[in-house]
Amino acid sequence: MSDSIIDSPIQEGNSLEQIQNFSGKYPKQLWYLFLTEMWERFSFYGMRGMLAVFMVSELMFTEKNANLKYGAIQAFVYAFTFIGGLFADKILGFKKSLFWGGVLMIVGSFILAAAPKDLFFIGISFTVIGTGFFKPNISTMVGALYKEGDVRRDAGFGLFYTGINIGALLGGLLCVWIGKFYSWNIAFSLAGFVMIIGLITFYFTKHTLGPIGDSPLLHLEPKKRKLREVLVFVGSIICIPLILIMVQNTKYTDLFMYIIGPLTLIYLIYEMTKLSAVENKRMIAALFFIFFSVIFWAFFEQSGGSLSLFALYNLNDTLVGIDGVDPNVVNNTANSVFVIALSAFIGMLWIWMNKRRLEPNTMVKFGLGFLFLAAAFYVFYAGRFFADASGKSSLDVFTFAYLIITVGELCLSPIGLSIMTKLAPQKLWGVMMGMWFLASAYGQYVAGILGAGMATVDEKASLNDKLTSYTDGYYQLAIYALISGVVIIAVSPLIKKLMQGVK
Ligand code: GLN
Repeated sequence: MSDSIIDSPIQEGNSLEQIQNFSGKYPKQLWYLFLTEMWERFSFYGMRGMLAVFMVSELMFTEKNANLKYGAIQAFVYAFTFIGGLFADKILGFKKSLFWGGVLMIVGSFILAAAPKDLFFIGISFTVIGTGFFKPNISTMVGALYKEGDVRRDAGFGLFYTGINIGALLGGLLCVWIGKFYSWNIAFSLAGFVMIIGLITFYFTKHTLGPIGDSPLLHLEPKKRKLREVLVFVGSIICIPLILIMVQNTKYTDLFMYIIGPLTLIYLIYEMTKLSAVENKRMIAALFFIFFSVIFWAFFEQSGGSLSLFALYNLNDTLVGIDGVDPNVVNNTANSVFVIALSAFIGMLWIWMNKRRLEPNTMVKFGLGFLFLAAAFYVFYAGRFFADASGKSSLDVFTFAYLIITVGELCLSPIGLSIMTKLAPQKLWGVMMGMWFLASAYGQYVAGILGAGMATVDEKASLNDKLTSYTDGYYQLAIYALISGVVIIAVSPLIKKLMQGVK
């Protein structure tokens, strides 16, 4: 990928100063990043929504196996964000990483479209690497639009998060619907097609980002820089067969997950030896946020695995009196609908509380996120009391649980993105954003294990047995989420100190 394609010369009006001194609530570049990320999430969530259902209904995997594979795929997707962030910080820059990631995602989608059954894991492996290069780096560029201390940053991430969910909604809705009722090939091509739209959007707007996201090696001789870049491109392609092997064999996934976390921590400790005491305290605070987010995502991400299978078997199809609503479509879209509906409201609530000096600090917001998570899983559990004799439970109750879990997510996820760019020094932004998503990787991984634990071992189990098995699991999750929330709120004063004035 040549520099002229991706890195843009600084043009009139696009210096960092000018970008960050924007007037109004949002910088205009945020809208472009919003749109690019929206299309990427369309593609990603479209594919994600299809995974478990496709594996069970087309690849004839057992539910347990589908849960484990789903968890492994998601874990790899997010684990590679650390690597994508690292190479962006050190070699490619955010823009080029994003572009490369997008290209790999497109290739992956079209491989899946061509032969979803035969080339399933190859297509998925491309998507894994692609997302790793794309996802952390677009979020980091959002942070880079703001000066240190700019109070508009959280609102910016809130808006960006809405974009994520508009994409997730459209993808979850259209891809799964087309896949289930028409053709999996068309559904996977749609994921690739919208990713192309995302990259085109980025391509035509990237000049407005000025120097943000350019290669960190612009000072090097072009030849030397190119060589390093090409090595990253080639290296990432070489990783694809390795991922293919690891995703297909859950044992390797385990090994990978045992190794990647400690390795990244060692690397981070090495980077921290070069930082000042204040910077280090902030990094430790960031690590606390990252640690707790693992637990949050492990529970939350039941949505793509066990909740998706729960929806497949154990829900009726009546939503607020309307019959014929597909429970899997609800499972894949309710969260996004509620984020879109509530995100602005919650943002305003924080501002309202702030004016009255009532706004909780970030760690307490995290704790609240867990309390909502606990309440949501209690409602998923309570679904069993609304089941009919055949074991089909209420879609209304299920949807209500999604409303609650979404409030929890909004207390944690957009704020987490924002706090990473506040707590990490600029040269480690990509890595720390990658760490934030690596926490999601562990969350996804544990989510798969939890989901598999809830799945009934006997494939011929009745719907009532399935209902009992899944809802028992949700009850356990509610208890653990409650305990975590209480612990987080209790340790919040300590974390606040470590944040050294960052809010
Ligand atoms: N829903 C958010 C997104 O897709 C957060 C995902 C995560 O970090 N697990 O970006």
